[in-house]
Amino acid sequence: MSFSNLGLSEKVLAAVAATGYTNPTPIQEQAIPHVLARKDVLGIAQTGTGKTAAFVLPMLTILEKGRARARMPRTLILEPTRELAAQVKENFDRYGAGQKLNVALLIGGVSFGDQDAKLMRGVDVLIATPGRLLDHTERGGLLLTGVELLVIDEADRMLDMGFIPDIERICKLVPFTRQTLFFTATMPPEIRRITEAFLHNPQKVEVSKPATTAVTVTQAQVPAGREAHEKRELLRRLLREAKDLKNAIIFCNRKREVAIVHKSLQKHGFSVGALHGDMDQPARMAALDQFRKGELPLLVASDVAARGLDIPEVSHVFNFDVPHHADDYVHRIGRTGRAGRTGTAISIVTPLDQKSMAAIEKLIGQSIPRAEGDYEVHATASDATERPREQRGRERSRGGRGKPQRGRDRERSHELREARGEARHASEARHSSDARQPSEARHRSEEKRASEPRHGARAQANTSHVPSIGRPEPRRQREVDTEPGDHSHLPAFLLRPVRSPAGA
Ligand code: AMP
Repeated sequence: MSFSNLGLSEKVLAAVAATGYTNPTPIQEQAIPHVLARKDVLGIAQTGTGKTAAFVLPMLTILEKGRARARMPRTLILEPTRELAAQVKENFDRYGAGQKLNVALLIGGVSFGDQDAKLMRGVDVLIATPGRLLDHTERGGLLLTGVELLVIDEADRMLDMGFIPDIERICKLVPFTRQTLFFTATMPPEIRRITEAFLHNPQKVEVSKPATTAVTVTQAQVPAGREAHEKRELLRRLLREAKDLKNAIIFCNRKREVAIVHKSLQKHGFSVGALHGDMDQPARMAALDQFRKGELPLLVASDVAARGLDIPEVSHVFNFDVPHHADDYVHRIGRTGRAGRTGTAISIVTPLDQKSMAAIEKLIGQSIPRAEGDYEVHATASDATERPREQRGRERSRGGRGKPQRGRDRERSHELREARGEARHASEARHSSDARQPSEARHRSEEKRASEPRHGARAQANTSHVPSIGRPEPRRQREVDTEPGDHSHLPAFLLRPVRSPAGA
């Protein structure tokens, strides 16, 4: 199947050709003809499947006819986060370059005045987060009665973020006769109810089983002590040892943890950015941009800030914290191994995370291999200097990982509210100096490569550039060398021998 068989306009086909895409992805192939036939669509697809273009390309074709009126957008796209909204806008900019369409973004953290002026000029495509959109309608600056096509993207994420009441309100503000395109990765009962209420005879297109993880992603879990400083030291070791690490996203459960891990990695010389809900919009965009361009190879992020981000070629994902919600795991590791590429996802697992890990393994239908070897973290001089700050952090967030669920949920919901533009405490992100720092991961890697002992040819092929973590490789490495199969995709530590509890 080629794009030219889908019914897209000449202009849109030219834009697609210019991007270099030769064939539509399955979701595009299935959804685009229905959208062009003006049918409602229920798309069950995760990010990474090409679902954005599955609605952007036919919308561009449809929008070639007709004109926008002041304050009355012709189409409306709802996204759960600002970053996703900005990404969809980038898609319109890319594929709609040959068309004179007005595309406006209504997201929190940007001045109302500028947004209002844009709405006044007439908008063909309005891309919005629900909170900010409702703010504009309540101020009277926006009428949704001209919306011909409504897209609700990442609906299950909207549910997680508490946006469903807002979505229901918005659905009642747009004309009953509009066309609706609804995308979700999973179909929990609440989402099913919404689709039954607001979609008319939808065409269902499903491209992959919900909650599956890409086969190209090598997953591993590494045991850790429950203290955050132990986890941070382990993280540094994993970063230094990681094989073929080009760039990595490091996920934390709470934005406070994001800030702590970010600062700690910076202090240890890593070139790292941060992305969480307390950062203002320009700081988030700047961090993302630097990460995309490779100026910052590491990004510490929270789920809300990172959901659905289209960052091609992320080689590694680290779960500094195991997510409390199993589906977040799927979304996190979906940042790597995109579009058939290989990737590595490593989770740092404390004794308190066992229940969450069991839920994740049940959801994805596979067990995640445990990394074997010596991963006990021993205090070092740098730890000693780091710990007092850590203790201060623990005093503030009393309990840390042991914090009662209610407290964690409160914080999560604060971040969710923030994503809706309801909380506006912006904290400074200090990225500009980071970009000039050399990446410690690469630096250390090169430094250690020179002194690394040589092993069997296979090990050399697979791990020769991976630094050891301070002690000579034992002879048993050869057992690994002679195992059948290619280990070249595995991180070095998975190739380390199993140690008996008594030690070697
Ligand atoms: P999405 O699921 O919309 O986040 O898209 C995931 C990635 O796939 C993005 O980097 C797109 O640019 C890319 N993509 C979208 N459509 C195609 C296609 N037909 N062929 C190859 N890559 C695509």
